[in-house]
Amino acid sequence: MTKNIFVTGGVVSSLGKGLTSASLGMLLESRGLRVRMQKLDPYINVDPGTMSPYQHGEVYVLDDGSETDLDLGHYERFTSSPLTRDCNYTTGQIYMSVIEKERKGRFLGKTVQVIPHITNEIKSVISRMGGDDVDVVITEIGGTVGDIESLPFLEAIRQYAQDVGRENVLFMHLTLVPYLKAADELKTKPTQHSVGQLREIGIQPDILVCRCEHSISREDRDKIALFCNVPSEAVIEEKDKDFSIYEVPISLVDNRLDELVVKKLGLPSQSLDITPWTDLLHRLRNPRHELSIAVVGKYAEHKDAYKSIYEAIDHAGMHHQAQVRIGRVQSSDIEREGAERLLSGYDGILVPGGFGERGIEGKVQAIRFARERGIPFFGICLGMQCAVIEYGRDVCGLEKAHSSEFDKDTPHPVICLLDEQQNVTQMGGTMRLGSQPTQLLEGSRARQCYHADSVNERHRHRYEFNNDYRQQYRDHGMIFSGTSPDGGLVEIIELENHPWFVAVQYHPEFKSKPLKAHPLFAGFVEAAIERGSRKSQPVAVGE
Ligand code: GLN
Repeated sequence: MTKNIFVTGGVVSSLGKGLTSASLGMLLESRGLRVRMQKLDPYINVDPGTMSPYQHGEVYVLDDGSETDLDLGHYERFTSSPLTRDCNYTTGQIYMSVIEKERKGRFLGKTVQVIPHITNEIKSVISRMGGDDVDVVITEIGGTVGDIESLPFLEAIRQYAQDVGRENVLFMHLTLVPYLKAADELKTKPTQHSVGQLREIGIQPDILVCRCEHSISREDRDKIALFCNVPSEAVIEEKDKDFSIYEVPISLVDNRLDELVVKKLGLPSQSLDITPWTDLLHRLRNPRHELSIAVVGKYAEHKDAYKSIYEAIDHAGMHHQAQVRIGRVQSSDIEREGAERLLSGYDGILVPGGFGERGIEGKVQAIRFARERGIPFFGICLGMQCAVIEYGRDVCGLEKAHSSEFDKDTPHPVICLLDEQQNVTQMGGTMRLGSQPTQLLEGSRARQCYHADSVNERHRHRYEFNNDYRQQYRDHGMIFSGTSPDGGLVEIIELENHPWFVAVQYHPEFKSKPLKAHPLFAGFVEAAIERGSRKSQPVAVGE
């Protein structure tokens, strides 16, 4: 029978529930268990697809094309749990299905209410995750206990435990144990209050994971245990990690979280093997190379807006045992100050995806700089479209070439909507989304990196390379090294006579994992390492 773990958070938001849930998932998998991961978000948007990256960080895209919360990125990077549409529900989606059922008369004239109709719908999306091939489902509840919005979800998980038997469910609650400088003390009161709030609505947590800056003393642990009605061993310390997020699972093992979970749920677990992860940390701690990559974007100041991009660069760094310094560069700053000033000194330049016109010219300038100076360049989605615009203007002589997304009247719409897409006006649900195949050109750099003749990668965009210009670009030296299998859509472009210039219409960053760096990111970082080492080679005396 499938067991359920529910992860809630209290005191403040941004405690890292996603990372902790993902780490627990990974530890249980490392004990031979079959794990599934799910996130329930209390906001009303139907999905995060239309939310600004400033509000919500990046939108994480799954193989099936669903646009999900970025915590699902943690789940995929840490575990091998297959993720689908069923793994992320919002209040908006839950209400939408209940209202659709009501319109179809499914409730037989009854008054439709939060309890039981909304809570039943929530319970049904939770139980859908279980099955014969699943030992444990970890469901993270977004938001913070005490928010009005989260109440139906908390009520639903309370009922769920009643329905399936309390012994089959584990409630894990994350809280903050802050350090007060003036008193030189850790404070347990916020944790007591937050657990108090949970208990008021009928949930007694089994395990408390306490986020803290300083270690929690035996005494404080006992105090938390006493006031929160849990055994001392169930008060788990999770100290801030400033070195790497990949330390989190190891520290949870040190605090015996996995052991406790397995014991409490009576899971048929094997002994823990996390050698690949300790090896990974070893490589991270003992770098053999150093390099710097500039990520030139519109949302550079927001640390979660390009989350998976930063992660994928780090994975490639770990793959090559290299320490990567990532510089976040605002593309609009390049427009003001110039590429030379902001980008010289970097060993590689990456332009990520995005929407909207602001900063486009800065990205184009950054790409020109990378192309002309022979700096390794990696363009992703909008980054590829900008590379096409730059090449059109500066190499093919297509004056004012642009994407019709930004200039409807451009004489050369080198990036445009394909005919069949042109009548689309509604936002949301109109994009090319999810996993699609790309055929790789023989002899190309892309194919060398992938070691395959075709690959599946995830998409999230509306605009495409305009095929009317393909021949002209080819004549000027651009290589179309990846296309859709019928050849109709351009997926990858690259340049010869450049150390590494590759740009893709899809989002490879969503398929990179710490233990398996994405081949294109690995190739890009390798080229940047090479450039870095050439730069730092001492000049021989007498030359
Ligand atoms: N705005 C571009 C498009 O819709 C690129 C999207 C992206 O980078 N994800 O095609």
